[in-house]
Amino acid sequence: MEAYLDHAATTPIHPAALQTQIEVSALVGNPSGSHRAARVAKDLLESSREEIGRLLGAAASEVIFTSGGTEADNLAVFGSISEGKIAVASAIEHHAVLDSVRASGGKLINVTGTGIIDLEALERFLKENGKEVGVVSVMTANNETGVIQPMAEVRELVRKHSPSALLHTDAVQAPRYLDVADIAAGFDLVSISGHKFGGPKGIGALVVKGSAQIKPIFHGGGQERELRSGTPNLPGAAAMAVALNHAHGERAPSVKRVRDLTEKLRDGLSAKFSTIKPNGQEEPQLCNITNYCFDGLNSEEILFLLDSRGVYASAGSSCASGALNPSHVLIEMGRSKREASGSLRLSLGTTTTEEEVDYAIEVIGDVVLGLADKKGVAWV
Ligand code: PLP
Repeated sequence: MEAYLDHAATTPIHPAALQTQIEVSALVGNPSGSHRAARVAKDLLESSREEIGRLLGAAASEVIFTSGGTEADNLAVFGSISEGKIAVASAIEHHAVLDSVRASGGKLINVTGTGIIDLEALERFLKENGKEVGVVSVMTANNETGVIQPMAEVRELVRKHSPSALLHTDAVQAPRYLDVADIAAGFDLVSISGHKFGGPKGIGALVVKGSAQIKPIFHGGGQERELRSGTPNLPGAAAMAVALNHAHGERAPSVKRVRDLTEKLRDGLSAKFSTIKPNGQEEPQLCNITNYCFDGLNSEEILFLLDSRGVYASAGSSCASGALNPSHVLIEMGRSKREASGSLRLSLGTTTTEEEVDYAIEVIGDVVLGLADKKGVAWV
């Protein structure tokens, strides 16, 4: 038996998206060319763009295809700042935003113990430095805790104190479970990534709304409205449009199904270790992510033992070598390094079954209680 509880890392590709990706991969035309084969490719690229725009509340011309969420985030941050302007972001952003803001000399805003951006701290900073801010980036929902950020409040503060700044949201975790067009309304820049909602890996987009002025971060043919160069990933774009269409159309039943399964998982686990509560549960959360800190245990050990019994999950941040660092998200929420070093993220998806959840409860119970016993940890 296996249980894949790592849908926040990547989702299985939707069969219709896979079919599209395979079929479109057989087309020879380069969408930038002018002969008939190129025009076929161009038409398909543009209809995919239109579909994605429609589903995200944007015009087709506002959708810039990228290689994924990381590139979209980098383009949003570095593309929005110029001499004398800085980027501002919450301290719990994905590394694609966080490290871009750090590398550009920007400012990170603290979060509360419940896992949302500290709105007072944001307001204080914007009041004093509003004129120097080029972009404010706040993720729609956090990829480790699932906590949904106070988007409307952020938008209001930025428009009030820093009206010339662009507003960016990394909505990478959102499209399956939230209406991105609605929740990110009024944001200038929105990042998405195909493989987080049933599309292929290696394709994403940055929505660049209307009057937002950004500049490219690398140079070449300028294929994507002069903002992104390189021959577009046509099979990826077409398949991502199909996946987004399914994610959008199936959102209500997906949310219900995945929420029920997540509740079952949480109930089952709290029957095993009642004193351990999921992180971020005081705030609205995505229905698919549950995150625990097992104080005194080690994430790597937990994951290794889960893996050996076919339960696939993750911890917090991992570096390129695959080694685990304590999650910056949990540390920013005020968890100790020791607590954050024992984190476990369980993320469900639309393909998760009741049987997987039952099996995961049993195995996680065995592994966590076994390790706690071995280490003499007393919280259970
Ligand atoms: N932003 C968030 C919130 C994510 O969860 C991820 C992926 O884990 C990314 C950005 C990066 O996306 P990609 O894997 O498409 O580069």
